[in-house]
Amino acid sequence: MKWYRKLHWQIIIGMVLGLIYGIVAAKFQWIGFAKNWVVPFGDIFMNLLKLIAVPLVLTSLVAGVASLSDFKKLSRMGGKTIGLYITTTAIAVTIGLLVVNTINPGNRLPAETKDNLTKQFQANANAKAKGETVESAKARGPLQPLVDMVPDNFFGSASSNRNMLQLVFVALLIGIALVQVNSEHRQPVLTLFEGLQAVVIKLVNMIMLMAPIGVFALIAKTITTLAVGEEGQTDLAQIGAILGALGYYCIAVIIGLLLHICVVYLGLLKLWTPLKIVQFFKAVGPAQLLAFSTSSSGATLPVTMRQCREKLGTSRETTSFVVPLGATINMDGTALYQAVAAVFIAQASGIPLDMGAQVTIVLTAVLASIGTAAVPGAGIIMLVIILEAVGVPGEGIALILGVDRILDMLRTTTNVTGDAAVCAVIAHSEKQLHPPNE
Ligand code: ASP
Repeated sequence: MKWYRKLHWQIIIGMVLGLIYGIVAAKFQWIGFAKNWVVPFGDIFMNLLKLIAVPLVLTSLVAGVASLSDFKKLSRMGGKTIGLYITTTAIAVTIGLLVVNTINPGNRLPAETKDNLTKQFQANANAKAKGETVESAKARGPLQPLVDMVPDNFFGSASSNRNMLQLVFVALLIGIALVQVNSEHRQPVLTLFEGLQAVVIKLVNMIMLMAPIGVFALIAKTITTLAVGEEGQTDLAQIGAILGALGYYCIAVIIGLLLHICVVYLGLLKLWTPLKIVQFFKAVGPAQLLAFSTSSSGATLPVTMRQCREKLGTSRETTSFVVPLGATINMDGTALYQAVAAVFIAQASGIPLDMGAQVTIVLTAVLASIGTAAVPGAGIIMLVIILEAVGVPGEGIALILGVDRILDMLRTTTNVTGDAAVCAVIAHSEKQLHPPNE
């Protein structure tokens, strides 16, 4: 097959063209055209991906859990998976704290820039994370994510992609109950869920054919939004200036994410799977690219599952259980970013954080990342909880909102990589990893 016929190359081409188009559109003020004729294709693509998120999580988790026909196997695999997810997240936060305390990005910010940025982003922050979100996040205790996880109505939990954690909870409960009823009752229900799962997976493949165009439109949208100011004036230098001022902060997040991927994931893969590193990245590449361009591990979930099953060779059973659960609760990139961002904002606002505060950051970031919805920008809203826990005003997020989209792309890519790495480890430990020979 010619290289350009491969989907991941088409996605890369879509991304590069989207970048070029975005800059040109901003420069020549083609914003109206981009908005009316390009951006909608990105929205359609996102809608399609989101559309299948709920059926996918529900069918795969129920089928995944229930097909682990014996309860002992389920608790063993569940215990291992959740244990590994939480451990990697705690390590991610620790790496984030080490990096940010070494680079000290907030202390390098000139006072003048700091003031300007705070003023400039204040309006943005108020608009984006205003009222209810910030207020309700403030009123939450650290265990609130656990309470939020238990829905009081099934349809409520399935009615919004933001309630994904609740849906995971319901799906796990149904799956666990199914394992325990006698096989006469279990079998037809299980067959139904497996059939539905096959249909949803087919849908994923169909939707993915649109990915190159969708990704083109999404990147073009991001670039034009960044490059065109509130009053419609083109200010390409703005991107450079903001990135320059917040450069050290971004570098800290990026170094942290890279360290986490190289040390933790590659370490896990080397120690506990027979997979070669190149083979792993080749397999999860399309999922990483999609995570990068959509900033949503929820929207990427179908592709992550497909790549794990077809290219890494993890069994259907393991993949259906480990990956959807991971897309919802395992957000190492988000937790790491939240730790760096919290310290950066504290430093920039001149609030010292002692050892106790840093430990609080570890605990709250692990919990907050579990409760973070797998949608773009969710991480920064949950960041308010962490800031409040260490006595930093939640409004401090205003400072970093401008660069959040770019970091969201990177942390989502890390989140998705983590789900795939853990899936490979669990599959191998269950003797369910059979990499295809290419
Ligand atoms: N966008 C991230 C994800 O979907 C969540 C976040 O905002 O950190 O994985």
